[in-house]
Amino acid sequence: MPPEKDTSSVSGLDLKPTIDFYTANADTLYRRVSDDLPAAKDSVQLPQLEAEVEQFLDQDTVLKILSLFPDESLGRSILRKILFKNSLWFEKESTPTTPRVTNNPSEALSETAIIPSYTDYGSPSIEAGKLAADIHLYAIHSAGDSRIAKIITVQGLVHEIAHCVSAQIIWGDDCNLAFKDGTLMDGTLMDGMSFIAKFCELTENLPSMSHYSGFYRNADGSYPGGSNAQEVQKLLIAASEELAESITAYLLGFTYCEDNPERCLDPFKDRPMVRDLVAKFLEAE
Ligand SMILES: [Zn+2]
Repeated sequence: MPPEKDTSSVSGLDLKPTIDFYTANADTLYRRVSDDLPAAKDSVQLPQLEAEVEQFLDQDTVLKILSLFPDESLGRSILRKILFKNSLWFEKESTPTTPRVTNNPSEALSETAIIPSYTDYGSPSIEAGKLAADIHLYAIHSAGDSRIAKIITVQGLVHEIAHCVSAQIIWGDDCNLAFKDGTLMDGTLMDGMSFIAKFCELTENLPSMSHYSGFYRNADGSYPGGSNAQEVQKLLIAASEELAESITAYLLGFTYCEDNPERCLDPFKDRPMVRDLVAKFLEAE
């Protein structure tokens, strides 16, 4: 028999520890993604839904999930449509720099190297210089019971909507944020890059919000540095994943992290300033 391949460098791609945590806390977490969701707001518009497989979140649930976001942030959203697709896994040959994907479970890195969701900025046409994105949600069959699959799917959708409401700030040009009243940045106009710099400054010396967003940091936990275009791109990706995970943890009240088990259900326990900045970011115009 060949020796077992060392997959420790790509362990961030495997949801196994996350699934174990969700299974151990299933009652609490399932309530957060079902009964605890807010009523759908009249102001929220349903994006186009397209199902290539059975649509595994109904229209009302999608509206409730969008309603978690303040109207101001949805006003900045570049979301065009949500696609429901067949299961997808990270492939055996994936490396930290080149993750590869497969629809075939026998080619998967592991049964639980599941990809729940993805934001595609590429295929939508960019109309009049405006960014647009489609969210892909992948069916989940290998996470134990259906409640765990729903927890992962809802968390994935919130994460991708968080990307859609942040994209203009990170990837668009000329975007300003006007923060509402508050202690941190009262009334200040801030451009997107200054916001990202502030967010990185506040999060740099903390463990990543989640096991997942830690995958994009350096081995010592710092953000990628350097000033050439490729290095700046890596920093922006790491910052956008940390921001999306922070927004998701803020809106759903949980995360999966390994630095402190208590932080999983109290994600901002060690970072009240980050919580404050995320809240202000979502409500900024
Ligand atoms: Zn992401």
